[in-house]
Amino acid sequence: MLVYKLRDGSKIDVIKFCMDVNWIAKEYVCCKCGEKMVLSERNDISDGYNWVCRQSDHYIKRTVRKGSWFDGSRLSIPEILIITYLWVKKTTNEWITDEFGYISEPTVTDWKSFCREVCVNMLVSYNYEKKIGGVGMVVEIDESKFGKRKYNRGKRVEGKWVFGGIERGTTNCFFKVVEDQTAETLIEITKKYVEPGSIVLSDCWQSYTSLKNEGYTHYTVNHSKNFKDPVTGMHTNSIEGT
Ligand SMILES: [Zn+2]
Repeated sequence: MLVYKLRDGSKIDVIKFCMDVNWIAKEYVCCKCGEKMVLSERNDISDGYNWVCRQSDHYIKRTVRKGSWFDGSRLSIPEILIITYLWVKKTTNEWITDEFGYISEPTVTDWKSFCREVCVNMLVSYNYEKKIGGVGMVVEIDESKFGKRKYNRGKRVEGKWVFGGIERGTTNCFFKVVEDQTAETLIEITKKYVEPGSIVLSDCWQSYTSLKNEGYTHYTVNHSKNFKDPVTGMHTNSIEGT
């Protein structure tokens, strides 16, 4: 596995790899004189290299991580790559902490949160042009809070509520940041992104009860009971119409 080879290989290979895939900047300009900075080997920093501009009147140093995914962490770049890779592979916190032996579970939790945040930011910033669902099609809607940080990196952030929907059986979806979770807000977004006539499934939640007045068939999913899916005929959870 490449990320493990990078961890056990030379530091310049790590830097070159990250530059090749555009995960760190390939060049850096000195803030003082505007000249290109020089990538210099350093034995006293974990990355092994940093950007330097050495002139008669100034000596400026910059980390190779500046503005990148790796910025601000005490972990090495290969360690961060391995954690990110293990997150993609849905590896448990326990597995990851065992894998390293010296990374705490809060650190792993933090990194997993950062990974999720990047994905959520991409999803909420996407311009959804086409409504999802349609007559007789099932759209599952839900809200979740993202971006709440407690541990190492950055300030404590309260997070944002994201409201989204997925058309069952496809990858068609929408995700939007919401300021509040009132019925008004959620129904307005549903109307914008979900075709009328869709069968909307949600968790048991009061805010959605007026969806039926907006041209949707609304079912709440009660995860505690079995039910027969009205569309596929599959038995999953119990649903109740509102
Ligand atoms: Zn300079």
